[in-house]
Amino acid sequence: MIDLADYETYLTPNYGTPPILMTEGSGCQLTSATGETYLDCAGGIAVSALGHCHPALIESLTNQAQKVWHLSNTLANEPAIALAKALVHATALDQVFFCNSGAEANEAAIKAARRYASDRHGSDKDQILCFHNAFHGRTIATVTAGGQPKYMQGFGPMPGGFSHIPFNDCQALEAAISDQTCAVMVEPIQGEGGVRPICPTFFQKIRAACDRVDAVLIVDEVQSGMGRTGKLFAYEHAGVEPDILTSAKSLGCGFPIGATLCKHHVAEHLTAGTHGSTYGGNPMATAVALTALSLINQPDFLRRVEQSGQYFQAGLVQLNAQFGLFEKIRGRGLLIGAVLNTPFAGRANELVKLAHQEHLLTLVAGPDVHRFAPPLIISETQIDDALSRLERVYATFSADTAMEMN
Ligand SMILES: *Cc1c(COP(=O)(O)O)cnc(C)c1O
Repeated sequence: MIDLADYETYLTPNYGTPPILMTEGSGCQLTSATGETYLDCAGGIAVSALGHCHPALIESLTNQAQKVWHLSNTLANEPAIALAKALVHATALDQVFFCNSGAEANEAAIKAARRYASDRHGSDKDQILCFHNAFHGRTIATVTAGGQPKYMQGFGPMPGGFSHIPFNDCQALEAAISDQTCAVMVEPIQGEGGVRPICPTFFQKIRAACDRVDAVLIVDEVQSGMGRTGKLFAYEHAGVEPDILTSAKSLGCGFPIGATLCKHHVAEHLTAGTHGSTYGGNPMATAVALTALSLINQPDFLRRVEQSGQYFQAGLVQLNAQFGLFEKIRGRGLLIGAVLNTPFAGRANELVKLAHQEHLLTLVAGPDVHRFAPPLIISETQIDDALSRLERVYATFSADTAMEMN
């Protein structure tokens, strides 16, 4: 028997001990080792865009598994070329570097930007401008880019050249950007940092500022991409073209893969030998992602994500009229955050725990935001089901806090 006691014994404690041991998934449902079913509005943290065990993904994975699993980048493989071609045709970017996770995709983006600046302007142009509440991954460089003390504490020394300014603050941007700026790195919706959408004019100002000083605009779409917001990538909403775009999470819909998409003028600086990853472009991963992309990048599919998001948000607004727990509901498509009012600040994790009791899987985005990132295939009936479970969650939370206040 494998159980959660073994988890504590044999896995490092960095995640704490998860509350539930899951064994199977299908569509928007997960089943625990004890046979209980859960409605999934977390999607493995914005990963399982096509739900669990999607038949077309299983077919692509098993077909590829019969052919060849791994070659390394000393040899070429068909799925990697096909996926790169499909991503380039679907976006404003020109060439693709493959890796295995979001952090690695951002690490490659940082290296590409540094190399571009160093080749063109010399080694003084090395400053990377990032934003408060950002999240770009957990490697030493990407936690530094994220800039959150809680993820950096005790891991120093951290690499230099990163600075942080307030998100959506045009004045701070103009004051901070200079000839030394090598890159600006930004999420179109800050995911982990609280589901905060970028203001389109701010996004456009970043683009203009980057053009002015020849800085590389890195758009981190690890969470917001692959249809999550109702466009294939969220930069499309603002009409701002990145020089580098990073993708992971829903790219493989649960099979590990990351990608760093570059414009030609950046890609050409990643000359032979400058960067690499043993698994990058792995045929199993790229075969699955190619199928995921072909299913997600359809006008009807993307329109439905937008509509489902509006439906979900409207339901949350209605619940909030009843309970008054939230200052606002924000996000786009099926990346949604309910921001707790000041008296309840810091208690979002309690909502996630209460939701478990209702057999509903949800997320936090920082201490104050209840986050939802369900599979993009979630139906209206399933959203209704989620909302009725949330009604009980918020009722219980309200009753508990009323008791504490008395
Ligand atoms: C999750 C996330 C990452 C890190 O991805 P990993 O696959 O966990 O390394 C980077 N950027 C954003 C915006 C993310 O949401």
